[in-house]
Amino acid sequence: MELSAPPGHDWPTFDAGWVWLCGAGPGDPGLLTLHALNALRQADVVVYDALVQEAILDWAPQAEHIYAGKRGGKPSPLQRDISLRLVQLAREGKRVLRLKGGDPFVFGRGGEEAQTLVQHDIPIRIIPGISAGIGGLAYAGIPVTHRDVNQSVTFVTGHDQSGNTPSSLDWQAISKGSQVLVIYMGMKHIAQIREHLLAAGRSPSEPCAVVTTATTEHQQVLETTLETIVDDIAQANLAPPAIICIGQAVLMRQVLDWQSLAAGNPARNLDPLGRDSGDAESA
Ligand code: SAH
Repeated sequence: MELSAPPGHDWPTFDAGWVWLCGAGPGDPGLLTLHALNALRQADVVVYDALVQEAILDWAPQAEHIYAGKRGGKPSPLQRDISLRLVQLAREGKRVLRLKGGDPFVFGRGGEEAQTLVQHDIPIRIIPGISAGIGGLAYAGIPVTHRDVNQSVTFVTGHDQSGNTPSSLDWQAISKGSQVLVIYMGMKHIAQIREHLLAAGRSPSEPCAVVTTATTEHQQVLETTLETIVDDIAQANLAPPAIICIGQAVLMRQVLDWQSLAAGNPARNLDPLGRDSGDAESA
């Protein structure tokens, strides 16, 4: 069941005893890469995380599907146990597809897993995926960079290994250094994150968006401000997984909410940044 490619293109063959560490994108199966699809078609076993949409497993009907995430309130398997399971499966001669939500190397512990595999002499291939902090926001009509808004974007985790707000983060520097912040795993500690950002001088009126289960049919988008974000999340009853975006880029959703446009609604504001699109001027 290899993926047939147009003439002149070859897809890598998934050899027995290999582990391919692969990003599944944020949810919508259409956001898988061709390499991911090629891997799904050839795998003997798919070891997948909680953030991988089950529909994606339908693309690997021939494979055994092993769940390696948290479910039903049970604690998640230890990272070391997952990595060693991958080693064991590879040594059994399986084609092991390790499927992770988004991109495996973005807040996904892919680096740790890959390291363990290499330390155990298991051959690996890495297949990047579309990260929720970019693709998820795009599905909400929010570009993570925009010429009139930001020259940098910062991806932040709202958790550290202990599950606390990362105390090692320099919130002052982050606040001052980047006009747009994209926060992963931020829901639990959003109140503290908000305090840090306000204390560092970000404006209470700064636009924020919270996008949950982005790119799936359950996607929800909350538009709010730093001032009201905590109350609004509670009021809307939003639950993780969520990407939180802070910065003027969020305003672009007023013109780029393409799912709403496709449903026949007009854009709310054709020029939310109060400038033209730049087409008239040379860049
Ligand atoms: N490797 C993943 C991130 C894993 S960390 C990636 O590149 O996207 C888990 C966090 O990712 C979640 O807490 C949430 O902040 C974010 N996330 C992943 N999938 C998401 C989705 N479909 N919608 C919103 N947030 C998502």
